[in-house]
This record gives sequence, C-alpha cells and structure tokens, in this order.
Amino acid sequence: MQRVLILMSDTGGGHRASAQALATAFGERYGDRFNVQVIDLWSHYTPWPVNQVPKSYRTLVTDALWLWKLAWRASERDWLTEPGLRLVGRLVRRAMRRAFDEYQPDVVISVHPLMQHAPLGLLRHRLKSPIPFVTVVTDLISIAPVWYHREVDRCFVASQEAVRRAKLAGLGDEQIRLYGLPVRPAFARPVGEKKSLRLSLGLEADCMTALLVGGGEGMGPVGEIARSMAARLAADGRAAQLVVICGRNEALRRELAAHRWPLPVRVEGFVQNMPEWMAASDCVVTKAGPGTIAEALICGLPILLTGFIPGQEEGNVPFVVENGVGIYSESPAQIGAILSRWFGPERERLAAMGAKAKTMGRPQATFEIVEEIARLLGE
Ligand code: UDP
Repeated sequence: MQRVLILMSDTGGGHRASAQALATAFGERYGDRFNVQVIDLWSHYTPWPVNQVPKSYRTLVTDALWLWKLAWRASERDWLTEPGLRLVGRLVRRAMRRAFDEYQPDVVISVHPLMQHAPLGLLRHRLKSPIPFVTVVTDLISIAPVWYHREVDRCFVASQEAVRRAKLAGLGDEQIRLYGLPVRPAFARPVGEKKSLRLSLGLEADCMTALLVGGGEGMGPVGEIARSMAARLAADGRAAQLVVICGRNEALRRELAAHRWPLPVRVEGFVQNMPEWMAASDCVVTKAGPGTIAEALICGLPILLTGFIPGQEEGNVPFVVENGVGIYSESPAQIGAILSRWFGPERERLAAMGAKAKTMGRPQATFEIVEEIARLLGE
C-alpha cells in the first residue's frame, strides 16, 4: 500500500472540500491500494503564531477586508513574498519534519497556496527526498504566485488563465496539467431526475427553484439577498421556491429559519449532499467561490454571482459573465429582479446559459488528477 499525504488548511470550505474530494477519488478508483491522509499542517503541526494563520484568514475576509486586500497585493510582489516564505519555512520546519516522519508519505499533494515552499524546501533540500510532490490549485482564475513552485513534479490547474500564469512563474509544459477543479466525485455520478429529486428533498416538485449559497462559511449578505429574492418573486407571481444553504453560519441559519416568507423557502445549515441540492435547482445564486462555480457548471446551472472575495475570487466574475453562463450583481434588489426575469420571460435565456454551463463542466477532473498521481507512483 502506498501512502499519500495531502496538505491542506481550513481556510474556507474549498481547500478542505478539495482535499476530501481527492481522498474519495483515490478510494473509489483504487480501493485500498493507497492510504490517504489529509492533514491541516498549519493548524495542527506548526507553533504559535503560525498556527493562527487559518483563523486569521477567516477574520480577515469577513471583518477586515481592507487588510486582506493589502496582503493579497503584497503576495503578488516577489521582493515581499520571498523573505516572508523563507521566514515561515524556518518557523515550520521542525513541525513539518515531524509530520513527514509520522506519515512516511510516498507522495505529497498540496491543495493550499502556502504549502509549496516550506514542504518542498524540507523534502528536496534538507531530507534530499525524491518522493513526488504535486500541487492541486484550488482557485480558478486569479491564482496567487505562491501557488506555483518550479520544483513540483506536477501542477494541476483548472483554466487556461491558470496555465498562462504557471508558465509565467517558470513552470514547464511537462509539469502543468489542465483537468479542472477537484470537486467531489459525487458530482460525476447521475443523481436522478429533477422532479423526483425535489420530492425526495421535501421541495415543491413544480416550482422554479433557486439555490442560494455563500460558500462553506455562509459568507456575504445572504439573508438580505434571500429576502429580496423572495419578495420580488412573490410580487411578480412566479411559481418559485428558494433553497438557502447557510453552510457553517449557524446564526444566519437560525435567523432565516425564523423568518416568515412569502413563498416556499427551505433553509439548511451545512449540507453534505450538495450534488442533490444543485441537481434539484434551476440556478445557483452565490459569491464567486471557485468550488461552487465548478460544481454549478457540472450540474448545468446558470450562475447569479452576488460578490467575490478580493484577490483570489476576482477573476471568477469575468470568467462566468464572459463565458455566458451567468450574471454579476451586488445589489439585492437587482438580484431579485434578475431572478424573477429568469423564472419568467427569460426562461429560454436561462436554459441557454444552463446548456453552455454543462459544456464547461469537468466532472471527471478529480479522477484525472488522481490517475496521473497514481502513474507518478508507478500504477
Ligand atoms: N459546501 C457544502 N455544503 C454547504 C456549503 C458549501 O458542501 O453547506 C461546499 C460547496 O459545495 C463547495 C464548497 O463548500 O464545494 C465551497 O467552496 P467555494 O469555493 O464556493 O467557497 P469557499 O467556502 O471556499 O469560500
């Protein structure tokens, strides 16, 4: 049995979800031929204050966005990131060595922008280890330069723009692979027909259905948008329903569950069966999270984007809009009006965007990634 070590960090739903997607795909494809371990290297193996980085990220992108913007811009400057990464590398080296000793991996996979330099420095230059190291980039378009490291064996990306940036960072064709984002293998399986799926989820079978999400953390003005969408759809007399998925935002879930709605609204906390909720819906309303966008494309869902995290999600907005698979608006009133048109006079346009989305989805990406990693290990 070969040992696979996936390095992630719990900043947002995306990195953990990607790590789990890869682990599941290894299991589905190869049974127990691989032993896959996922570790949050930063939180569990590094000393304070480095282990606070994931928590600070959450605070930054919710309460101190200006500081996050500053940090993102700084990360695009080599002369600032190089010494920063060297310092972090020194701080975390011992803890990382402990993790490698413990797991004795045959391959290391990083699914986090801050986990190339330090682990590669240790493996290649201190331990002189020849084991393969691969990066699976979990952002779509706006890829921070720290994602790219010239010494990786493979760098898996999800867009032509990411390929372009990888080449700018000095990676060669033999290292770069374009397969798509690593979404859960469940998205690659058929989930059944829409109406029966709605019934099994306790939804109205014959209503147009909008799925509203704010990433794994339930971020952004989800409540305000939900109220605006419901009010507008009801005022326009649409036979429609909403599903609002609040993720880990329990306060939001409680608030929306207690609200009196003018049409059927289903409020959920963190759901494990996102493929079913998406397949039961007619469109998704979301911030520009890469995971949710990739999953919506696979499900052939038009995307109404309501915001983005500056930096890593910025490029996802033109990606969606210019490819004709969705629209961007930050105004709750406008979002309600757009949705009402989509569910009314613009149904054909909605269908055309959905069909285009379907052609862009990459349901097999996760399997293609793990198959290539398995080949690196001689499978
Ligand atoms: N997600 C989920 N259950 C929920 C909410 C979100 O499984 O209740 C998943 C969603 O399907 C996606 C990820 O969490 O895979 C969110 O990733 P995205 O890149 O959209 O946003 P992030 O949370 O990373 O900011």
